[in-house]
Amino acid sequence: MLYIDPDECIDCGACEPECPVNAIFTEESLPPAWARYTEVNALWYRDRDAARRLVDELRPDGG
Ligand code: SF4
Repeated sequence: MLYIDPDECIDCGACEPECPVNAIFTEESLPPAWARYTEVNALWYRDRDAARRLVDELRPDGG
């Protein structure tokens, strides 16, 4: 998973078309099903273990 520091990102959009699996969205266009990944992304920069736990919780198979 690629993490983007929300405090460093300037919302230029340059990364969005470069993702080979179309997994990067602007915050405004993020599909509702992936909304909690905004939290995961920001959490990564504060507490990586907590971010890993949240990713595991969000996995379709429950981790
Ligand atoms: S939108 Fe993407 S390319 Fe632009 S600053 Fe943010 S992370 Fe970097």
